[in-house]
Amino acid sequence: MQERSFDRYDVCIVGASIAGNYLAYLLSKSNLKIAVLEDHKEIGLPFQCAGIISQKLNKLIDLPKEIVLNRVNTAKIVSPSGNFIKLSGNERPYIIDRIQLDRLFYKKAKENPNIIFYLGERYKSFENRIRDGKKYLLIESSKRNIIAKMLIGCDGPLSLVGKQLNVKNDIIFASQIRVKAKFFNHEAAMYFNPQWKQLFGWIVPEGNQICRIGIASTKHVNTNFKRFLNDLNVDMNDKIDQQGGIIPYGVMNKLAFDNIFLLGDAAGQVKATTGGGIIMLLTAAKYASNCVNLCFKNCNFSKKFIKKHYEKPCLRAIGKELKFHFILRLILENFSSKDFEIFFKIIKENKIEHLITFYGDMDFPKALIFKLLRNRTVLGFMFKFLLKTPVIIFKIVKLFL
Ligand SMILES: Cc1cc2nc3c(=O)[nH]c(=O)nc-3n(C[C@H](O)[C@H](O)[C@H](O)COP(=O)(O)OP(=O)(O)OC[C@H]3O[C@@H](n4cnc5c(N)ncnc54)[C@H](O)[C@@H]3O)c2cc1C
Repeated sequence: MQERSFDRYDVCIVGASIAGNYLAYLLSKSNLKIAVLEDHKEIGLPFQCAGIISQKLNKLIDLPKEIVLNRVNTAKIVSPSGNFIKLSGNERPYIIDRIQLDRLFYKKAKENPNIIFYLGERYKSFENRIRDGKKYLLIESSKRNIIAKMLIGCDGPLSLVGKQLNVKNDIIFASQIRVKAKFFNHEAAMYFNPQWKQLFGWIVPEGNQICRIGIASTKHVNTNFKRFLNDLNVDMNDKIDQQGGIIPYGVMNKLAFDNIFLLGDAAGQVKATTGGGIIMLLTAAKYASNCVNLCFKNCNFSKKFIKKHYEKPCLRAIGKELKFHFILRLILENFSSKDFEIFFKIIKENKIEHLITFYGDMDFPKALIFKLLRNRTVLGFMFKFLLKTPVIIFKIVKLFL
């Protein structure tokens, strides 16, 4: 650690994207002195999101109208050969202005003079220290040293805070363009293909005749993306801009450590089926803020205390559902093109769309999975598929041990 004077804070949050800003905003209601370190100079940039979020968003936060760019009425799910199922039901996801969502909570948190944002400042490391039998942290950034009681890693999929705690996310790479498009005004589409098996190709209607088209995969993302755009007959003259990004892939990580915890993508709080993390992290942030307040009230910053008041509530609220997302993903990524076709046929012939429409939940899939497995044809297909790929059974069992 460099020889520098120390700035003293109660809490240091690393990362001022949606997780860090929302947590800072929730904590702005307390009297805690908080430093937020953000590597980038401008909040919300670079823009790296498809911005499709379920209606739960409106229940979790007070959602300003101007942040909602569009609503989706129909979801089209497309098989590798171009067969598709169209789902439309009660769920009408929001398409949001992600940059403004990040800025909303940044601006709100900043209203509290106890919360200081250090933009363009990179977190580097922490050291544990003890004084009078009490633990605290020495934190080094690119510009200052900080003494704090708590450190919270909201620093995304490649979290440095996590790395220093031996927590590492598996990741997939995403690429997206925004294009002028006359179609898809209220229809989102997901294109499945064994070539980009860790997720799907997406078309999200931003509104105002603009679409966000993207793809995510572990390998060859650029080649796959070119192929996908080609298959869709996208005219590259209609391209407005391009984004890239990283998505954590797996189940929720360990969250709690002495004086430290992780939140958002850093914690793997992301749905393995869609790569969506916003509903999950907003849910987790409420437990996180409650936990921070309890830590200071009880002067207890131990791993055990943080586990009880943050990790366990998160596991109950989202952790188990994230495991179901991962199971679905394991199944989908092992589907061959033929499996996709058979599965789509089963859904169509057995009129299962209405089940998906009725019980389908973008965030919590457990109920739908059990409903689908009650159908004998689906159950038979899954049984045969799993016998063919026993490695999935092994991975599923390991998840619940
Ligand atoms: C292409 C793409 C499309 C997506 N589409 C959707 C979607 O449609 N719906 C949805 O719900 N989710 C979507 N997601 C996922 C969603 O964007 C993430 O779940 C969400 O951004 C996670 O927020 P976060 O604050 O945890 O992490 P991030 O948004 O990754 O932010 C981490 C922040 O920490 C900062 N940081 C990192 N390291 C340091 C350091 N050492 N020092 C200081 N600062 C640091 C970074 O600069 C960044 O600002 C998408 C992701 C991608 C990549």
